[in-house]
Amino acid sequence: MPSLTFLGAARTVTGSKHLLEIDGQRVLFDCGLFQGLKELRKRNWAPLPIIPETINAVVLTHAHIDHSGWLPRLVSQGFRGQIYCTGGTADLCKLVLPDAAHLQEEDARFANKRGFSKHQPALPLYTQEDAAEALSRLQPNPFNTRISVVPGLEVEFINAGHLLGSSYVLATRADQSGGRVLFGGDLGRYARPILPDPSPGVETDILLCESTYGDRLHPAEDDGATLARVITETIARRGKVIIPAFAIGRVEELLYWLFKLEDEGRLQKLPIYVDSPMALKGLAYYNVRTDELDKEVGAMRKNLSRFTAVSSAIESKALVDNDTPAVIIASSGMATGGRVVHHLFAGLPDPRNTVLFVGYQGAGTRGRQLVDGAQYVKMFGQQVPVHARIEKIDAMSSHADAGEIIRWLKTFPKAPKMTYLVHGELIAQDALKAKITKELGWNVEIPSHGQKVSLPI
Ligand SMILES: [Zn+2]
Repeated sequence: MPSLTFLGAARTVTGSKHLLEIDGQRVLFDCGLFQGLKELRKRNWAPLPIIPETINAVVLTHAHIDHSGWLPRLVSQGFRGQIYCTGGTADLCKLVLPDAAHLQEEDARFANKRGFSKHQPALPLYTQEDAAEALSRLQPNPFNTRISVVPGLEVEFINAGHLLGSSYVLATRADQSGGRVLFGGDLGRYARPILPDPSPGVETDILLCESTYGDRLHPAEDDGATLARVITETIARRGKVIIPAFAIGRVEELLYWLFKLEDEGRLQKLPIYVDSPMALKGLAYYNVRTDELDKEVGAMRKNLSRFTAVSSAIESKALVDNDTPAVIIASSGMATGGRVVHHLFAGLPDPRNTVLFVGYQGAGTRGRQLVDGAQYVKMFGQQVPVHARIEKIDAMSSHADAGEIIRWLKTFPKAPKMTYLVHGELIAQDALKAKITKELGWNVEIPSHGQKVSLPI
């Protein structure tokens, strides 16, 4: 009987890896990095319970690092197959994987310099060469087209509206049984700018559904009112608004709102900086794939010259030192690395400034500490006092909330035999399981890390 093993994103939101074993073939769906708490990050170093060489193919739902960021490690450990994804996912992986490798190399260099690693010398989890090798294995495919990934198994990518190229992957047995598993990836949201609505559900035997916000409802869309208020108040204090943003995905929506508010006269015209080389390249990819996006994206296109692109590290340093009121969008989104850390290091002690979070802040990240009201955060070996105002806008999340997940599940033509909740912290998953059971009467399970289940397909 086919089986599924949950090798990541089980009772946590990162490290997505789901191994489907079917007719002697092994296919890994998503290959993400664990992030956040140290005990989770340690899992990135642990070997898989199976030899990577025995995995025949990998299929990616989307390019976010918690779904793709372990690929270079998989390759360095001996995986030799192809990696199937959409064209948009392949584009964005060309940005995120080399960047992730760079960060791993930096971490190892830093550990060697400080001598705090148990290993001498400290080695990176993977290198730029491993990332390049992983990229060379990507096989981009169009949406809504069935392709064979291993003998006996076909997959189809369906637009999930969560990120450029993001998909649900429908895996279908090529024999008469036609057994199906839908790997939900991350679910987008309804009636948002930039990205399309999530595609309706399809008939499937087994469903893997994300549950990041399974216990929450995003605040109602306020047409940019909170964003306008936060920026206006900060500018009145002559401060800077520092927005940590995931380099791919969030920046496009932020710019959309900023330009819209300016055009409607609800926000004074301000210097807007995008201080992230990766975000700038990501914007370019969004620009060439507008047919996969929301129709409103065309309006944003003509506005692209209205922000200042900060490309070089020297320009970034000058911006950190500049005291002029401005909006600064920089990555990473959970303030765990990247240029935003320098902006925070300089900006957090100043009560005129605001740090505005617009995405999910994982447990154990600097972003979560700030959102939770930390008085000090550690950066570059120092305790930095937090005097800046900390704000967050959950309405701008790219993940569906509990209500939107239920709305999506109601679009399925019939109940799957089993729905597994993944990609959520347990408290959110318990709440979502109760809601699905009550409102839809579906069979729902919350798998644990490493659990293997038989699939009746
Ligand atoms: Zn995602």
